[in-house]
Amino acid sequence: VHHSYEDILDRVSEPPTWWDCNGTPRFGEFSPDKSPNIYAREVILLEIACQGCLTRFRVELNIGPYDLVKGQDGGMEFDSFATTTPFYGDPPNTGCCPSGPTMSSYSSHIVEFWRRADWNWNRRSDLEGIQIDEIPDR
Ligand SMILES: [Zn+2]
Repeated sequence: VHHSYEDILDRVSEPPTWWDCNGTPRFGEFSPDKSPNIYAREVILLEIACQGCLTRFRVELNIGPYDLVKGQDGGMEFDSFATTTPFYGDPPNTGCCPSGPTMSSYSSHIVEFWRRADWNWNRRSDLEGIQIDEIPDR
């Protein structure tokens, strides 16, 4: 369960436009350099749906330089959203539905995919928009 961040939201009149990996409400246009992980190698803006009420959210996830996975050759290599299924878990704690804060979320699709080479962010639109989870119609 993410924090409700009422201390922030009670002071801001406009609704958040996206939420970071901590469930923190964020405002204005998304960009990868706004990730809370300043060392991130990959940053995505992911569209999710609350499993309780299907409310959609745009959330940030990132992979840092210490997120290593075992590669096919047995050695350790950098993890990547290109080869793993992005999963946010509980949706942002907005009270979208009575059980919302404790519900998990469906991953709909990656809205923006960014990978850093040296210190430059490169957008990989070829890795965006692919459907991830089947989201039920209700
Ligand atoms: Zn909900």
